[in-house]
Amino acid sequence: MIEISHVNKWYSPTFQVLTDCTTSVTKGEVVVVCGPSGSGKSTLIKCVNALEPFQEGDISVDGTKVNDPKTNLPKLRSRVGMVFQHFELFPHLKIIDNLCLAQQKVLGRSSDKAVAKGMQLLDRVGLNEQAQKFPAQLSGGQQQRVAIARALAMDPIVMLFDEPTSALDPEMVSEVLDVMVDLAREGMTMMVVTHEMGFARKVANRVIFMDRGEIVEDAPKDDFFGKTRSDRAQKFLSKIL
Ligand code: ADP
Ligand code: MG
Repeated sequence: MIEISHVNKWYSPTFQVLTDCTTSVTKGEVVVVCGPSGSGKSTLIKCVNALEPFQEGDISVDGTKVNDPKTNLPKLRSRVGMVFQHFELFPHLKIIDNLCLAQQKVLGRSSDKAVAKGMQLLDRVGLNEQAQKFPAQLSGGQQQRVAIARALAMDPIVMLFDEPTSALDPEMVSEVLDVMVDLAREGMTMMVVTHEMGFARKVANRVIFMDRGEIVEDAPKDDFFGKTRSDRAQKFLSKIL
């Protein structure tokens, strides 16, 4: 579903942020990406839906090359759900309208259809009673669940998450992780940047460890936690576990 092949990216001629990154995510797979701050995790995940350009290598999503100038990027991005650390809901729109906007504008769904889909997804994340509220009236955990529902409303073929719980108060982390665990168990293809190793242990198929722009480890979950090979990954794990 996602193929990342020998990607090199520079933010400036003297600063290479990604070095020869190669990995893939197959359909239905959940891949967790972890690593120290500044190691290039966000940059890599943004390259997947072409929010960041890269100079060398190739990335394709469901067979469509994101770095091909002929690719219809808005169309591609409409199929790739993305959830960021900061929820980025539209503050002036009610929750239900946050869920409907792109369904109508991008997918051309009727208002009735969009609302029905929106309500179904709010129900799924346990927030159907909040539909008529504005984002600021919800807690951080609730807003992040809305952000996930909004991404799902587009019927994505893959979901990308970039530290979705790291801006939340500790007591709200689990309500967001629970939604993500359900999603993983339902078979969604997911690439998740997170340091929540409990989540990784529960649902990840593979864990990638990045350091200084390189993919240092890319291993099945049990291998990653069982016999971490590199010193760098070992050191990182000992700090966060
Ligand atoms: P991570 O998500 O692992 O913390 P990032 O991908 O955000 O890492 O950043 C990797 C490195 O690239 C960091 O050194 C960061 O300061 C730098 N960086 C991130 N975005 C930009 C940018 N737009 N321009 C220049 N440097 C950037
Ligand atoms: Mg980041």
